[in-house]
Amino acid sequence: MSPARRYEEVLGDVAEGRLKLNEPLGRYTVARLGGPADALITVDTVELLTKVVYLAWESNWRMRILGGGANVLISDLGYRGLIVINNAKAVTIQDDGRVIADSGAVLTHLARQTMSRGLSGFEWAISVPGTLGGAIVNNAGAHGGDMAACLVCAEIALPRRPPEDWPVARLNYGYRESALKRHPSPFAVLSGQLQLSPGHDPAELQRHADEFVAHRKRTQPPGASLGSMFKNPPGDYAGRLIEAAGLKGTRIGGVMISPVHANFFINTGGGTASDYLALIRLACATVFKRFGVELSLEVELIGEGFETEANQNPTTA
Ligand SMILES: Cc1cc2nc3c(=O)[nH]c(=O)nc-3n(C[C@H](O)[C@H](O)[C@H](O)COP(=O)(O)OP(=O)(O)OC[C@H]3O[C@@H](n4cnc5c(N)ncnc54)[C@H](O)[C@@H]3O)c2cc1C
Repeated sequence: MSPARRYEEVLGDVAEGRLKLNEPLGRYTVARLGGPADALITVDTVELLTKVVYLAWESNWRMRILGGGANVLISDLGYRGLIVINNAKAVTIQDDGRVIADSGAVLTHLARQTMSRGLSGFEWAISVPGTLGGAIVNNAGAHGGDMAACLVCAEIALPRRPPEDWPVARLNYGYRESALKRHPSPFAVLSGQLQLSPGHDPAELQRHADEFVAHRKRTQPPGASLGSMFKNPPGDYAGRLIEAAGLKGTRIGGVMISPVHANFFINTGGGTASDYLALIRLACATVFKRFGVELSLEVELIGEGFETEANQNPTTA
């Protein structure tokens, strides 16, 4: 049976028109690029997400879940396997500050919802693109807050066993790192529980969040990008190093190192993943030559030709 036929066969009952074959991934990523996935299914409930991931594992397919596609650079050749687009976004908010949210909950919406209920502790997410699932994997954070500080536990599915709750300690969070990022075997984040601080004035929280949004507008460029391309090395800033290496405004193909903030690489239109990779390599090599600092990617490279150790650490490529 052809692989395409097999996706239709196995997912037919649950797909109900949601399955797409040979689907270009550009519209599912914030950088607006990426070649086709062999198959793609969009799920809008945790029940469906759970069903699909277990079916994929039982079928031995390669599978990757994407939330907002805000932290991934997908290769021009695309992804060999199944991409699951996670739109499961149900949220329950309790008066004591406990929040239970599906992993597809959009961070900015969740921040607004919790602030409007007088809960503090998630305002930092007001302008972070993506979903709770991606934020749990990456330990996303901004403005002094992060997932490590507000997550109680995450519901994680792994092949051949029922989903289990992982307390935050088990996620082993570091700076944009977790036990899930680069996990050696497949997993799915189904939902997360947050503990926020109740009893705050929603208007005050909103004012606070508005300041975060204004700060971002002042300091970060608009347009299609992946956010911060590199992690900040200890005691320094990746953007400062790339700027000091004279690379602000450098362009390869349709991708440019932002003249506003050098850690943002902008797809100016028609940019490709290969353009991105070439700029990433240039930035790494130049910064290493000038300052002896090895930059480490904050974004993840996914897809055919990208999933090698060398590409995750382009300074060594
Ligand atoms: C303009 C811009 C600004 C940004 N600013 C910030 C910032 O201030 N702070 C910050 O931390 N980040 C920032 N980012 C990066 C990004 O917003 C975060 O990393 C965010 O958490 C990504 O979420 P996502 O849903 O888009 O994840 P995706 O990019 O879709 O996925 C990221 C990784 O998580 C995995 N994944 C996603 N959901 C699941 C799931 N349910 N189960 C299993 N695996 C899953 C994916 O397979 C992939 O490996 C920014 C990005 C952009 C484009």
